[in-house]
Amino acid sequence: KVRVRFAPSPTGGLHLGGVRTALFNYLFAKKHNGTFILRVEDTDQTRFVEGAEEYITSCLQWCGISPDESPAIGGPFAPYRQSERKATYKQYADQLITDGYAYYAFDTPEELDAKRKEIPNFTYGLSTRDGMRNSLTLSETAVSELLAANTPYVVRIKMPKDELVSFNDLIRGFVSFDTNLVDDKVLLKADGMPTYHLAVVADDKAMEISHIFRGEEWLPSAPIHILLWRYLGWEDQMPQWVHLPLILKPDGNGKLSKRDGDRLGFPVYAQNWTDPKTGDLTKGFKELGFMPEAFVNLLAMLGWNDGTDQEIFSLEELVEKFSIERVSKAGAKFDFEKAKWYNHEWIKTAAAEKLLPAVKAVFADQGVAINDDVHLSKIIDLIKDRCNLITDFFTQGIYFFVAPSEYDSAAVKPKWSEEKALFFKAYTQLISDGFSAAELEEKFKELAVTHNFKPGELMLPLRIMLVGGKFGPGVFDIAVALGAEETKERIANAIA
Ligand code: GLU
Repeated sequence: KVRVRFAPSPTGGLHLGGVRTALFNYLFAKKHNGTFILRVEDTDQTRFVEGAEEYITSCLQWCGISPDESPAIGGPFAPYRQSERKATYKQYADQLITDGYAYYAFDTPEELDAKRKEIPNFTYGLSTRDGMRNSLTLSETAVSELLAANTPYVVRIKMPKDELVSFNDLIRGFVSFDTNLVDDKVLLKADGMPTYHLAVVADDKAMEISHIFRGEEWLPSAPIHILLWRYLGWEDQMPQWVHLPLILKPDGNGKLSKRDGDRLGFPVYAQNWTDPKTGDLTKGFKELGFMPEAFVNLLAMLGWNDGTDQEIFSLEELVEKFSIERVSKAGAKFDFEKAKWYNHEWIKTAAAEKLLPAVKAVFADQGVAINDDVHLSKIIDLIKDRCNLITDFFTQGIYFFVAPSEYDSAAVKPKWSEEKALFFKAYTQLISDGFSAAELEEKFKELAVTHNFKPGELMLPLRIMLVGGKFGPGVFDIAVALGAEETKERIANAIA
């Protein structure tokens, strides 16, 4: 039975790498008729950020990849917030101590600081633990006394000497770690709260997780987790490991971080995120004008393909075609220009009704209220080919609602010569509602010839008169969408 979990820590907005992890979990679960779980890993109260859990939930919802079990929905393994599962963790720490796999460490923060000053790159582990105050170095009586006196302590895992922890990662293949190089990570903190390492293993076991999909940055933690599965006596129930490739900067140079977005001008979050501590707003894909379908599509391609040249996939299709075998080991470059290309592909094939609410909202944001849905739908169909982002509908379509107040002088001089003005005056006489774009064009061409113009010379001026600039769909389509009265008025204003 496939049960997978997305296990974010509520420490801020959901980065695109986080959504990709959620998506791969979701695809695998749905493909195998399994269960997709959202578990909130909030054991580190110092990094907790107000509102982050709600943000995560709403991002998943926007993407269409909502969980089957979660803190909000509940489920057979509730609670799904680690802060509400505290009681279960301590007994595992105790059990590990009893069995000799973990130990008490009484070193004070000051003592640890002093060590760090003394030894550069100090880590607590095999080569250093002898010089510290812990239950491996102190006598049994000394330890009992310290405990009886309520001396603060942490519980650390005791990394074995000279062992190799090996496992088969479903993406990376055979992976192995030398235990001499892994430190004795803290499992239980002085406040009695578990660290991530203990909680993640305890909960993956409790929630009967079958596969652990997570970012490659967690690979170095895998040996600690595997030893915990073993030491707690659960190794036969250990999930399969699936470490997803890193998402790299556009130039392939290093891991994509939150700061890169700001610096290189692209969003890193699914939705806008305002940091409650600083009040800073970071842009999200949703508000920038991405369709959720496109966002999910482009995330899926960050490290996966179906083995063909196909690049456009719906969520349903991804569920059908997804397989771990086709996830690459190599880091995936994130390219914002390519991201916009995906969005463009989705916009141009989307039905106008589907785009309508978002397009309407974009206009409303700019202070232009549109009430006629039928009219707006026609305009959406006329210009959607030209839009990469939903927000482009405003710049590409505003002239349908507001007459140009200035003309692109770089495109054509806004002065229409006497002869041309006469032509346009005559043309306005021929325009009336009910004509198709083809009919308007025919009349335009015939009239041009009688005025001794090549029709081509007059086409751009007409466009500038109606649009204000050198862009947009077919100029006679624009005229039809504007209606006869508005078209005539714009021509008259331009040549006046
Ligand atoms: N809480 C970890 C995170 O924030 C989860 C890592 C894992 O999936 O094991 O990403």
